[in-house]
Amino acid sequence: MEETTLSIVALSAFAMIFLFILFALKQKRGIIKGKNYSSSIVTYEEEGGSKELKPTSVNYHLTRQCNYKCGFCFHTAKTSYVLPIEEAKKGLTLLKENGMEKVNFAGGEPFIVKRGSFLGELVRFCKEDLELPSVTIVSNGSLITEKWFEKYGEYLDILAVSCDSFVPETNRHIGRCQNSSKKDHLESLYRVRDWCIKYKVAFKINTVVNTHNKDEDMSEHIAELSPCRWKVFQCLLIGGENVGENAIRNAENMVVTSEEFQAFCERHRDISCLVPESNVQMKDSYLILDEYMRFLDCTRGNKDPSRSILDVGVKNALKFSGFDEKMFLKRGGKYKWSKADMNLEW
Ligand code: SF4
Repeated sequence: MEETTLSIVALSAFAMIFLFILFALKQKRGIIKGKNYSSSIVTYEEEGGSKELKPTSVNYHLTRQCNYKCGFCFHTAKTSYVLPIEEAKKGLTLLKENGMEKVNFAGGEPFIVKRGSFLGELVRFCKEDLELPSVTIVSNGSLITEKWFEKYGEYLDILAVSCDSFVPETNRHIGRCQNSSKKDHLESLYRVRDWCIKYKVAFKINTVVNTHNKDEDMSEHIAELSPCRWKVFQCLLIGGENVGENAIRNAENMVVTSEEFQAFCERHRDISCLVPESNVQMKDSYLILDEYMRFLDCTRGNKDPSRSILDVGVKNALKFSGFDEKMFLKRGGKYKWSKADMNLEW
């Protein structure tokens, strides 16, 4: 009888311990809902995002200087600062150590610094030394030379060239051209596309839909140029950049409505590489690093800088980036971004 009682007590104790462990595990994984446990909330990690922000894909705007004067530009020439190259490499190394898989070099015009050699060395460094899966550039295309492709093309995965119109006059209205030169933007675009094919770099086109091009049908030319991706953005206002106090540009009269943006995308729906990006999808879904390697937080409609990753480290600076990782994933920010994976026919 005593033995039976002991067995019951032992069994009960075992069951209670088992239930307690089960409860603790569930609580830790956030399965128990509706109670005031901090870990009971189903976290974003469980929805496919990462709990701790990771700088998976970073846009490094290494300069604000540019030879074009687009009316809607939202990263304007407010400074002429460029980091010393060793500092830039140090920052890129820190980003890699914190999980960066893709870097996109942007500007201003990134080829303007030291005639492209600064950019070229960073591209080589990121691919060869840091072994990043994806190294990409966004450029207006006008300052790129074939010599640059000969020297650095092998290290570059994707080159995106901005093109908002195939009508030269529209490009002039937008400001997609150089002040002092009669060089046509479209000539640069086609020349760079040909070099991309020759030097095995994936070619991409970026378009900003604004009041000057909203009714254009670009289908024929885009099909002919055959980019791997055609990113179509809705003209976006950012305080201090292209609207409001201290702004160098005023793009208020270039903004299009959501309906106009949708109509542009609908007109081009047969282009299979089209990737539309409305203001909502775009605003906080990019990790933007400025010329001092500070993250820029756009959540309040301006570009509010964090401290530099070179001073406070990546994790600390990331807390002030305003980055919406969920929207980044939702808008398809993660895609096949290494040229090795793209099955491109050269
Ligand atoms: S090409 Fe136009 S949008 Fe791009 S940085 Fe220069 S001025 Fe700005």
